[in-house]
Amino acid sequence: MFNLDAITRQNIKKLTPYSSARDEFSGEAKVFLDANENSLGSPLVKWYNRYPDPHQRRIKEQLAAIKQIPAEQIFLGNGSDECIDILFRCFCEPGRDNVIICPPTYGMYEVSAHINDVAIRKAPLLDNFQLNLAHLETLTDEHTRIIWLCSPNNPTGNSLDRVDIETVLNHFNGLVVVDEAYINFARQQSFIRDLIDYPNLVVLQTLSKAWGLAGLRLGMAFASSEIIAIMNKVKPPYNINQATQELVSKALEEVGQVNDMIRLLVDMREALAAVFASMPTVEQVYPSDANFLLVKIQDARKVYEFLLGKGIVLRDRSNVQLCEDCLRITIGTEKENTILVDAMQEWYNQ
Ligand SMILES: *Cc1c(COP(=O)(O)O)cnc(C)c1O
Repeated sequence: MFNLDAITRQNIKKLTPYSSARDEFSGEAKVFLDANENSLGSPLVKWYNRYPDPHQRRIKEQLAAIKQIPAEQIFLGNGSDECIDILFRCFCEPGRDNVIICPPTYGMYEVSAHINDVAIRKAPLLDNFQLNLAHLETLTDEHTRIIWLCSPNNPTGNSLDRVDIETVLNHFNGLVVVDEAYINFARQQSFIRDLIDYPNLVVLQTLSKAWGLAGLRLGMAFASSEIIAIMNKVKPPYNINQATQELVSKALEEVGQVNDMIRLLVDMREALAAVFASMPTVEQVYPSDANFLLVKIQDARKVYEFLLGKGIVLRDRSNVQLCEDCLRITIGTEKENTILVDAMQEWYNQ
């Protein structure tokens, strides 16, 4: 049975969180002289002299409506990367606990584990880029706190089998984090709807990909209100800055525009996949549920360098296990995709 108390670090359980000026007084007032801000203003817009809402109430309300989940089940981080770090800090005892990742996958889980002095165990994906459940099971012990799953996975682009993820959720007594950074481009449904069934599930999403807001840094964790409350205790009080809160609030009113972009990107992904598949030295274009393609191509490193010489930057994954000879290609604008395809023709014609 999953027991949240048993996996929460003692120091975090005992922690009295920082109480900000705006926490201690949040009612109506005319004169705020409680936070040592500059009362005269700023060189920018007047209200930037004030600290932002540490609870991000406005954008959480909007996200609650969009994601159909109570605001108490939403944690906001300075990018998903902060959510990842906070999960380590809440639930993994440095020097003692361990977590499991399934490579090839997003690099930040491992980096964050090292920063927090938490051991990493690896259950590589199978050749079809799906979970190796048997291996996963042999790696877990009483100190395994988190299994990190990325679906759709970066850099392979595929979604993990839903039934496999459910199997992990049902059999593992620690947290199962499902990183859904690319979920908006996928055929699969989000695991947010499954939170009701799994107290050990954490779903990560971000505004960096489909929403086109990588520069603002807003990541989201969805989980039980108990897990979210622990994460809130640990986060820096003002981790989401005022400019981000304002701009995100505006962006969240444009769901329709974002859905249009998603449709266009998915259409271009499929078109580009077909073009690549027809190229002479392309050995495989892997099916993608994301806004990028993983392409296996002869002389991948040389192709990468040739394109770099033309000012086109791809992600070279050719040295990554299971991604040998692969390049990861983000779907660009129509024009950028054409530039890439034309450059590839030059590669073949040289
Ligand atoms: C891009 C990406 C993220 C996004 O991180 P942010 O810090 O929110 O920009 C998270 N997870 C995966 C798998 C990604 O590829």
